[in-house]
Amino acid sequence: MKFGGTSVGSPQRMKEVAQIFCPKEGEQTFVVLSAMSGTTNSLVEISDYLYKDNPEGASTIINKLEQKYFAHVDELYATEEYRQRTIQFLQEEFRYLRSFCKGKFTANEERIVLAQGEIISTNMVTNYLLEQGKRAVLLSALDIIRTQENGEPDLVYIRKATMAQLKEHPDYDIYITQGFICRNVKGEVDNLQRGGSDYTACLIGAALQTDEIQIWTDIDGMHNNDPRIVEHTEPVRQLYFEEAAELAYFGAKILHPTCIQPAKFAGVPVRLLNTMDPTAPGTIINNEIQKGTIKAVAAKDNITCIQIQSSRMLLAYGFLRKVFEIFEQYKTSIDMICTSEVGVSVTIDNRAHLTDIVNELKMYGTVEVDNDMCIVCVVGDLVSGNVGFETRACMAVKKIPVRMISYGGSNYNISFLVKAEDKKRTLQALSETLFKG
Ligand code: ADP
Ligand code: ASP
Ligand code: MG
Repeated sequence: MKFGGTSVGSPQRMKEVAQIFCPKEGEQTFVVLSAMSGTTNSLVEISDYLYKDNPEGASTIINKLEQKYFAHVDELYATEEYRQRTIQFLQEEFRYLRSFCKGKFTANEERIVLAQGEIISTNMVTNYLLEQGKRAVLLSALDIIRTQENGEPDLVYIRKATMAQLKEHPDYDIYITQGFICRNVKGEVDNLQRGGSDYTACLIGAALQTDEIQIWTDIDGMHNNDPRIVEHTEPVRQLYFEEAAELAYFGAKILHPTCIQPAKFAGVPVRLLNTMDPTAPGTIINNEIQKGTIKAVAAKDNITCIQIQSSRMLLAYGFLRKVFEIFEQYKTSIDMICTSEVGVSVTIDNRAHLTDIVNELKMYGTVEVDNDMCIVCVVGDLVSGNVGFETRACMAVKKIPVRMISYGGSNYNISFLVKAEDKKRTLQALSETLFKG
């Protein structure tokens, strides 16, 4: 079970979620917790000040954060023993955070600072469980989750380490660990990118082959469109692994972009549930395909489109390889691709090497770059045999200037590239056409 930032966002919420993860007689639960909501953002802000060599700015945020946490202690614990224990822990934590205000601030130190949110929340909740007499133990995610040279999780290590930790700590009902944080291939403290607690939960669930991976958040499952942008969205009760993976990757914030992969490979179903309404059905993500159904729409922001046009591409072989090698050289992955006889358009979301990439592409053709684009992705059982489904999606966007369309790459998505300024009306139009009535 993974609980996100809002689910552990106050002492009251911590008490409520503790009720959810107490297992039935004979069952054991592995619980992954995020930092309390807003904390990781504050830690990012602290790091920003320290990078800018402004320890005073950092100290102001640290002081505010410290006040906030100390105020939670009385509310969370009933006994003096656990209040004192937690106060001592928090004092050490904030002393540690302040120690980064001296000297030069490095990327390594930033990753350590960002890790403290989850370290604090898991300690607080574990102390609460122990005070309540629960058989709970806190395991450090830094001993369990590890990434490889390429930044991807090391599945073999994670499996072995999780098993070893369980063996070392037998006979507990509740195992708690931090989401998001890990060690990298050099053994340094690192993280799985923002929103990474979902990923931690799926990695551990897959490693342990649990019955189910539950992602508890502040909404009743995956909605058929982004509820922050479109009104009257509805929960989707079931998603095929591939559909959920596409929605997560293409911007449905409820799931970390790559968290579904390990669950899919291990065949462990993922259930999305709502801590504000624990009995609501939520969404189950499993290996079942609902034939001929369009499930949901999502949007991925900050996309750049690069078009390369060249008559040399006509009937030539090897042209696309040369183009793709340039992206490979700069470790920049491509999301969407469209080709014609004399041109190819691709999209990227990492602009770090854009200037170099464009410079090299100019050796092969005329290059045009469009920034501030957005990929809108329609997900469902969209195999070509389901006649008319892509037409419905295209009809929905008939009034919107679409820069690229991608269909047929997978059986589960059709993607439109539109200008960022058209994102909202594209999402609205798709909801109107695909899900109304
Ligand atoms: P947590 O802190 O629990 O990880 P997140 O804020 O990361 O929670 O994710 C939950 C939020 O994702 C919801 O409150 C909702 O605003 C947003 N969201 C975006 N797209 C969707 C979607 N398609 N379905 C459900 N929620 C979505
Ligand atoms: N606390 C981290 C973040 O805010 C990880 C997470 O919540 O999933 O990004
Ligand atoms: Mg999240």
